[in-house]
Amino acid sequence: MREFDNLKETILKDAPRFREKDKFKFSCHKGLSCFTQCCADVNIFLTPYDIIRMKNRLKMSSEEFLAKYTFVPFNEKQQLPIVVLKMRDDEQKRCQFVTADGCGIYEDRPWSCRMYPLGFASPAETTASTGAGGPESFYFLMEEKGCCGFAENREQSVGEWLENQGIAEYNSMGESFKELTLHPYFQKGGQLDPERMEMLYMACYNLDKFRRFIFESRFLQYFDVDADIVESIRNDDIALMKFAFRWLRFALFREPTMKVRDEVLQTRKQMLTGKEKAL
Ligand code: SF4
Ligand code: SF4
Repeated sequence: MREFDNLKETILKDAPRFREKDKFKFSCHKGLSCFTQCCADVNIFLTPYDIIRMKNRLKMSSEEFLAKYTFVPFNEKQQLPIVVLKMRDDEQKRCQFVTADGCGIYEDRPWSCRMYPLGFASPAETTASTGAGGPESFYFLMEEKGCCGFAENREQSVGEWLENQGIAEYNSMGESFKELTLHPYFQKGGQLDPERMEMLYMACYNLDKFRRFIFESRFLQYFDVDADIVESIRNDDIALMKFAFRWLRFALFREPTMKVRDEVLQTRKQMLTGKEKAL
């Protein structure tokens, strides 16, 4: 984590800042000697939306996907669970999706793979976060050793690169997740206990388990959720992901993003009154 903080500091201090209109030279294609070399021994942090795209592409449940393709690093100072793409367990540590023709899940590759060679930084955020950021946020170039793409003559603006990589959709899907991870609770140094870490991990990343939690527990007897939302989260992963962020704000920070049913509140009130009388 210290390494990451140092890197962030260096980027904020020294990296040339690019805006959407600024141009850079770069091209990545099969004819290059370095082709797919970058898809090995690399830390790729996954967002909840990355996982939805990848697990649906592979027709897997979120549990199967997480177990086979990811790991969750942990250290004592960590404020939030993070999910990282697991490389092959051999000497080369190549990504499990890389093929001789490039990325085997290209249309559904994660945000980080789309962004390279661009990074995104904001003094108030981490470089791993997605989204447009504040007015002082900027893009920067990450020139990885051995990457021949920068010697190519193709020039494009940052905005063109982002559009060609489909970044806008990923950013819009990542907005609420970013708000959650940049919540004032974490900005002030708050750290989740193991139970709440597990809750956040399930609701953000293991959506199939979260769906079971909603439909196979007393969740809907406890919370008053609109019928059309209940119907949409039954089968739609995107709707469920958005609902998960809303529920987490209630469950983790006690924000009024969920409504407890009147009858539950009534029963609770009666029980409390009964207890008081017994005293
Ligand atoms: S040009 Fe860079 S990004 Fe493209 S394959 Fe080579 S190392 Fe990877
Ligand atoms: S997901 Fe695709 S682009 Fe990303 S590292 Fe793996 S093979 Fe490369």
